Amino acid sequence: MDAISGRDCESEQEVRDRATPTHCPYCALQCGMNLIRDNGAVSVASREFPTNKGGLCQKGWTAAELLSSPERLTSPMLRDCRAENLRPASWDEALGRIAAEFTQAQQQYGRDAVGVFGGGGLTNEKAYLLGKFARVALRTSNIDYNGRFCMSSAAAAGLKAFGIDRGLPFPLEDIPNAEVILLVGANVAETMPPIMQYFDEQRRRGGRLIVADPRATQTARAASLHLQLTPGSDAALANGLLHIATAQGMLDADFIAQRTTGYEAVRRVVASYWPERVERLSGVPVSQLYEAAQLIGRARSAMILTARGAEQQSRSVDNVLAFINLALALGKAGKPHCGFGTLTGQGNGQGGREHGQKTDQLPGYRRIDDPADRAYIAQVWGVAPETLPGAGRSAYELLDSIGSDAGVRALLVMGSNVVVSAPNAGHIEKRLAALDFLAVADFFLSDTAQLADVVLPTTQWAEEEGTMTNLEGRVLLRRRAVEPPPGVRSDLEVLAGLANLLGHKHAFPSEPRAVFDELRRASSGGAADYSGITYDRIVRDNGVFWPCIGEEHPGTPRMFLDRFATPDGRARFHAIEYRPPAEEPDDEYPFYLTTGRVMAHYQSGTQTRRVAALRNAQPEAFAEIHPAMAKSFGIAENDAVRLTTRRGTAVMKARLSAAIRMDTVFAPFHWGDAARINLLTNPALDPVSKMPEFKVCAVRIAKAGANRAAAAPVLQVGGD
Ligand code: SF4
Repeated sequence: MDAISGRDCESEQEVRDRATPTHCPYCALQCGMNLIRDNGAVSVASREFPTNKGGLCQKGWTAAELLSSPERLTSPMLRDCRAENLRPASWDEALGRIAAEFTQAQQQYGRDAVGVFGGGGLTNEKAYLLGKFARVALRTSNIDYNGRFCMSSAAAAGLKAFGIDRGLPFPLEDIPNAEVILLVGANVAETMPPIMQYFDEQRRRGGRLIVADPRATQTARAASLHLQLTPGSDAALANGLLHIATAQGMLDADFIAQRTTGYEAVRRVVASYWPERVERLSGVPVSQLYEAAQLIGRARSAMILTARGAEQQSRSVDNVLAFINLALALGKAGKPHCGFGTLTGQGNGQGGREHGQKTDQLPGYRRIDDPADRAYIAQVWGVAPETLPGAGRSAYELLDSIGSDAGVRALLVMGSNVVVSAPNAGHIEKRLAALDFLAVADFFLSDTAQLADVVLPTTQWAEEEGTMTNLEGRVLLRRRAVEPPPGVRSDLEVLAGLANLLGHKHAFPSEPRAVFDELRRASSGGAADYSGITYDRIVRDNGVFWPCIGEEHPGTPRMFLDRFATPDGRARFHAIEYRPPAEEPDDEYPFYLTTGRVMAHYQSGTQTRRVAALRNAQPEAFAEIHPAMAKSFGIAENDAVRLTTRRGTAVMKARLSAAIRMDTVFAPFHWGDAARINLLTNPALDPVSKMPEFKVCAVRIAKAGANRAAAAPVLQVGGD
């Protein structure tokens, strides 16, 4: 029987004719899969690929349902005025309206009055063309994307310390070879389950896994040691571990001397992070601090990996730098089976931040404020360097500016659902309502598209071709497996069509390969150099790791083995003082709120909430609270609870779990409407990366319907 089709009498060739090897539409693991066409139906089958080795999570197995969803948009829609409903329209009418509105806004208020908001799920080709569209066709500085809410702090810290931002500087296959791994703020067992095979193998070989997380997640339960830290205390924890490692003589003096700069200032700062103080700041017992420091410090090889738990805070660049300090001081970077890395979340979170949809960047990770970088990209684009705008506002600042005097008046959103995913989402929804004009390109009527003046129906995932860059920095090819439904266009066609109407007739190709060829030229010589990568090479080699500086270049699976990407080749230490979160619990809002993801859903849920199996697996949002907290408030399992912060209120069912700290409430962010947890989150921004503080703010809880007087009993809090 055939492994893919399950049929008895079908030749291998017949199956291959119906199968398209491609990748999952969701997270940054970008698992390989086959899509099988069978009498008009499409299903997912396993595919041996180096990253997932045939494994998929429930989201991947059910992804084909997106292709036949009855909720699929197949016609442009527009509303003639705000009081009216969206109505079907022709492409000519819809694109013409957008071009006219953008032109009018810019004539009236200046070029920066039009904003562009992209997404970390867009292919490299789309991210590249969107950036070019903003800078060349609109000449606005106001472009940014939802990856600002995801990877910006890890990226900024990587640039500061290593001179380059690639999430993992080594392939996943190296993970089982590390003796010890410290995973900070990552629940990969739920968010990207197939990656667990690498951590499982590491432990089978005798390795130890340490997880730092305020919750005893599935990942933490698989660990040898769980550090259940207070939300927002990551930098204190990192400094505390380095303090112990220093005191116990575990530092790698040769590595520090030969491959780094700036250690002395770090030594002085961590001297005051004695274990008892760090226990007070982080809630992690002194004994566990010693155990963790000794495990990492005495290991021959170790990796430190961070994710959103540490990275979505108003001091998250500092958090990441503090853990990088630990890796560097122990000599656990730039060596085989060692290293610091960050686990990218969104499907193209890595590539999406390399090619120009970030407001301060040009393609190839070039800087928009660097004259040489501007001149190079201007020449590729055939424009004068002085016509390129400078850096504009970061994602939250861009949305927050809407309606103000110098703010954005008209906005194009592509591949993002900011009504659900932005912090302080009620405020952002009001800002969107203050726009003169909103256009959204999407394949479902997302929560954000529902507010739009024009909605453009676009192709999705398996209906188009394009490259994605996974969390390892491996560039992959997403292939077209099925014809798109009549009436939809690709995002590339949308951008080319709009550019044409705005007077740039020939500068915007709409075929993915042509766009990728231009991207290769634009990235050549940049930090993220894709010039040697072709679609054919990607297929032949199961992906190509950037930088890849020519077609004969092998690509770069492992970075930093000889030198770091700084001008002097040395990694840089940064002295980091712990600073508390922007908002801490007080009498009025006595608990921490932290947010995250669940296994069955992805991002704002626009796609996964429309897949029956995923909806059934996790039909609604929930607030995870400790049984002791629940008892104090008279809350039972499944009771509706009301969570309130200084920014808003959300209502969802209670899920009682001893896996969470007694002082902390956890809620996933995949849902809209009354359960929209981002109504509550704090938009306090990291000063460097402009990352909002999704992971920690102060909240109060009450049983829905209970009055507020009963909302703040005294609770003894602790980490277990
Ligand atoms: S959601 Fe992520 S982990 Fe799950 S199958 Fe898709 S790429 Fe793999």
